[in-house]
Amino acid sequence: MARKKHTFKAEIQQVLDLVVHSLYSKKEIFLRELISNASDAIDRAQYSALTDKSLLSDDPDWEITIVADKKENTLMISDNGMGMSEDELDKNLGIIASSGTKAFVNALKAEKEVDVPELIGQFGVGFYSAFMVAEQVEVITLRRGKNQQAVKWVSEGTGSYTIEPAAREVPGTTIVLKLREDQKEYLDQWKIRELVKKYSDFIAYPIRFGEDGEPPKDDSEPLNAMTALWKRPKEEVSEQEYNEFYTHLSHDHQSPLKLIHLSVEGVVEFRALLYIPAQAGFDLMLPNQKHGLNLYVRNVLIGSDFEMLLPDYLRFVKGVVDSSDLPLNVSREMLQDDAVVRKIRSSLTGKILNSLTEMMRDEPEKYRNFYVAFGRILKEGLHSDWENSDKLKKLIMFPSAKTEQGYMISLTDYVQAMPQNQSEIYYLIAEDEKTARQSPLLEMLAERGFDVLFLIDPIDQWVAQSLNEFENKKFTAIDKGELQFGDEKDQQDLKEKLQQSSESFKELIDYIKNKLSDDVKEVRLSSRLKGSPACLVADENALSPAMERMMRAMNQEVPRQLRILELNAEHPLIGKLKKLFEADPSDQLLNDYLELIFGQSLLSEGAAVKDPQRFNQILSELMLK
Ligand code: ADP
Repeated sequence: MARKKHTFKAEIQQVLDLVVHSLYSKKEIFLRELISNASDAIDRAQYSALTDKSLLSDDPDWEITIVADKKENTLMISDNGMGMSEDELDKNLGIIASSGTKAFVNALKAEKEVDVPELIGQFGVGFYSAFMVAEQVEVITLRRGKNQQAVKWVSEGTGSYTIEPAAREVPGTTIVLKLREDQKEYLDQWKIRELVKKYSDFIAYPIRFGEDGEPPKDDSEPLNAMTALWKRPKEEVSEQEYNEFYTHLSHDHQSPLKLIHLSVEGVVEFRALLYIPAQAGFDLMLPNQKHGLNLYVRNVLIGSDFEMLLPDYLRFVKGVVDSSDLPLNVSREMLQDDAVVRKIRSSLTGKILNSLTEMMRDEPEKYRNFYVAFGRILKEGLHSDWENSDKLKKLIMFPSAKTEQGYMISLTDYVQAMPQNQSEIYYLIAEDEKTARQSPLLEMLAERGFDVLFLIDPIDQWVAQSLNEFENKKFTAIDKGELQFGDEKDQQDLKEKLQQSSESFKELIDYIKNKLSDDVKEVRLSSRLKGSPACLVADENALSPAMERMMRAMNQEVPRQLRILELNAEHPLIGKLKKLFEADPSDQLLNDYLELIFGQSLLSEGAAVKDPQRFNQILSELMLK
């Protein structure tokens, strides 16, 4: 094998250009990233060796070493982990732009002022941060396993890199950084010690330091404490340590919103360290994105992103689970329906929901932030996790007719504020908050002091189907069926009033039914309206108009749903309609009025009028009268 020159994949070169020219102060994070990669490589070696003992023929003591050489101006970071073959080296560091790399470049394009070091870790392009401090980077690596050839990768971060054979006895990887003139401080032991303490103290393998280009002495103290954070008592772990571990785990540089540190004993024993991020990551909504927790069994990392440790609707939670009740050499597939895993999952789910419930009660502002970021995902649980449905119902929030624009209330708040004579929980599904707020359907309810929840997330269509009841109060869509509200007397009064009016409106209603027979399936007097002349409602079991539009948008066949037109007998416009009708049923003005009123009802629920041109024309003509 000879020396070969390769060109970086375009996206990677873009990342490199940014990194090389970055002027930001926190260049020090390169060390954290390289140590993190070294630690991952050892994790992988350990895990692969569970099924292939031959990988450990050199009987390694796992370790990471950092060697400074002031004469040569180089800093070396070595591990005895998995190493890379020539092919892997080429792919991992040159050709394969991870989804993260692309997202990174897009994020950079979208923002004017970006903090490159902040973004590097987040998008999984950590290795390239080496170029912030080094003018040249060498990677010398030997993959674990039989018949492997050591290889060297060299680049100055400008367009190309070379790969050639190298000499290396021990499996693993060494990164040699030729430091830039102004970055020599990273050759000082105290500086390296400070950075390891700050960013990498929890790394599970010893990190040792050697000076003058010499490997660290065998008896030298590791720079890091090495104890897994989740195994230490809570009181002894500082917030900074918890946060650094979170960054290591999630590549998210913001502090997490909430930490849950658990030690569970009983039928199944495990420890867990869980974090709720402050913001939704860029990949949270992507299909097939990785999620789940890292699983350790007796100190060995079995794997990351174990999705079976949490239900899907908690996929935003990051963290680690450590249990000695699981066998070491099992595959992911086997864990899928393992009884111990199921117990851990159910216990974790309960703890997370409890913790969210506490946050909602004790730190409402924080909970609001959480809910804005992840509420949409949490709500999926209402559909899939019946066991926890009571807890989940208490955690969801909606905007409502009585809350200010942009605010939300919980179901508990809603029920507490219900007037004596309100017996059901009212909701309206709409495409957005503004449309919901303008709905004429709210009028009569508002007059009685009844609040209405607005279900405006696309997922709320499904949420509504799972709600059923809360604290023995039924959920009622205000745009469906014959709405009944208030106590019995209230209902009786309304009924009588409607009956009286119905008689005098009977002929007009028959006339309208006939006129609009293509568009509505029924016409009747309304008990929900106050200030508006008319509205459209649906049958008890019909699809909501928002759902109907959504299904059409997804190219699904939806039979045309005819709605019910309700008229407000007390509205002057309807009164006028009646007068026109009684004077002369063939009057063109009567028809024009009717078309306008029907059009308005469509507009008020966010739909379009059938023939906008004609609608405008009638309006203009009326204005001229
Ligand atoms: P990330 O670590 O987030 O995947 P990086 O850019 O830091 O992204 O690294 C790219 C890939 O290079 C890693 O996923 C890994 O496969 C490989 N790699 C980096 N450092 C090492 C190392 N010390 N030992 C083995 N493989 C490594």
